[in-house]
Amino acid sequence: MSSLPVYIGVGSNLGDRKANIEKAIELVKLIKGVKMERASSVYETEPVGGPPQGKFLNGVLKIKTTINPFKLLGELREIEKHLGRKRRIKNGPRAIDLDILLFGKKKIDTKSLKVPHPRMHKREFVLRGLRELML
Ligand code: AMP
Repeated sequence: MSSLPVYIGVGSNLGDRKANIEKAIELVKLIKGVKMERASSVYETEPVGGPPQGKFLNGVLKIKTTINPFKLLGELREIEKHLGRKRRIKNGPRAIDLDILLFGKKKIDTKSLKVPHPRMHKREFVLRGLRELML
């Protein structure tokens, strides 16, 4: 099966942010059919939208994977749940947030999954992380 390069955005603004990101990376590595390639530096960013809340730590991961985008989204949701994310407040604080930014050259536009991630070009840390990993 061919494996595609995939970029994942990772963020945390609740609890021990650095530890949350490190744990999420370890759990992403454990997904069957995923190979971790590289992780960008971690940046501190101001929250965008939502209620007043603390700053985020954000980074970008590059993986190679043979699983399909919807399966990957499901796996990322499981990791978010496992790391204690509560989905009560829209755009509220979160222990961990994992977004699929790019999935090879695929374009996906469904209710549950949009790739490339529609807001990624507006987020400075995403662009910085991607630039770092694509150099
Ligand atoms: P959020 O609460 O901002 O993390 O948004 C989560 C929801 O966005 C999920 O339930 C996904 O179904 C949806 N979603 C749409 N496109 C993407 C994407 N590229 N990566 C992650 N989640 C996505």
